[in-house]
Amino acid sequence: MNPIPVNEPILDGNEKKYLFECIETGWISSEGPFVKQFEEQFAARVGRKYGIAVSNGSVALDATVAALEIAQGDEVILPTFTIISCAAAIVRAGAVPVVVDCDRHTWNMDVSQIEAKITTRTKAIMAVHIYGLPVNMEPVLALADKYGLKIIEDAAEMHGQTYKGLPCGSFGDISTFSFYPNKHITTGEGGMLVTDDEKLAERCRSLRNLCFQPQKRFVHEELGWNFRMTNLQAALGVAQLERLDEFVTRKRYMGQRYTELLSNIPGLQLPVTKTDYAENIYWVYGLVLKDEVPFDGEEAMRRLGKYKIGTRPFFWCMHEQPVFQKMGLFNGVSCPIAERIARRGFYIPSGMALSNEQMEQVSKTLYEIFA
Ligand SMILES: *Cc1c(COP(=O)(O)O)cnc(C)c1O
Repeated sequence: MNPIPVNEPILDGNEKKYLFECIETGWISSEGPFVKQFEEQFAARVGRKYGIAVSNGSVALDATVAALEIAQGDEVILPTFTIISCAAAIVRAGAVPVVVDCDRHTWNMDVSQIEAKITTRTKAIMAVHIYGLPVNMEPVLALADKYGLKIIEDAAEMHGQTYKGLPCGSFGDISTFSFYPNKHITTGEGGMLVTDDEKLAERCRSLRNLCFQPQKRFVHEELGWNFRMTNLQAALGVAQLERLDEFVTRKRYMGQRYTELLSNIPGLQLPVTKTDYAENIYWVYGLVLKDEVPFDGEEAMRRLGKYKIGTRPFFWCMHEQPVFQKMGLFNGVSCPIAERIARRGFYIPSGMALSNEQMEQVSKTLYEIFA
């Protein structure tokens, strides 16, 4: 049996043509024209005024935290069930991450737990959309309004998704995206910040580019980073963006097909198909083992691995990260729902290039393992 990778991108549109253009013209650095084009087209796609392309989705969060002047003594509320990049950006800025548990069905942050965590030091809420369904944003926006908090929206897994008809990525003071190859559109490595605030956009551009000053280039008032995206990456981005609608349609089909194929396996909790605010776009197709299954996610992945089927574990909770515990963070924090799905959850092959036959093969194997 041929191996089925957990993710494989599709690059058969204008990618080659635009990359060739970069080589032919010699424009390969961040100064090349595709960068601006990608920024403008991507920002327009999510209904934002400004787009700032960066080298990946993790540094997009670092720049966001810095641009919003979150620093020592500030607190930021975020889900415990997310990627390390979210909490790392907060901790590196000297601020304190304050986590909330997730919802057992959508796996997104349980927004009903946020208000109790707000203190006089709270500066922002970082909303991270998880695996294909957005966070329920309305209550989050209402809290931000009521307490004067900033919203950071991590929309890395949400290209093309909407919340109540509005694009994901349109809700944050700054919203961020990633273009890693397992995201809906990819630039190999890459990321983007989007905002409607001209000053914030300026700050993000400056932070991305070492805080060079336009007048006195090598005199610095502030420390920035080199987070620039290359023209080669942006060329891929422009080509991929042309196909975003097609990709989202395909992902939704894949999610529905998996759900049909797997719904008769008794031990598996499948992703929520839709809520009253969004239809799942299945960034990845996640599974959580129900309590009656006598083994955990790691064992399930090991068994699938024997059939050469690629999988990835679910995120590991922020409050259970050894690196943060060693720093003395999250003492006594417990988030039982996230802790459980982190141990009992994993995802199956769900990349853009996955074929219908491969989905059937994965499903058949799951049947055998759970029979
Ligand atoms: C992928 C991802 C990131 C990080 O993006 P990179 O480009 O891999 O650095 C950040 N947040 C979320 C929610 C992600 O899924």
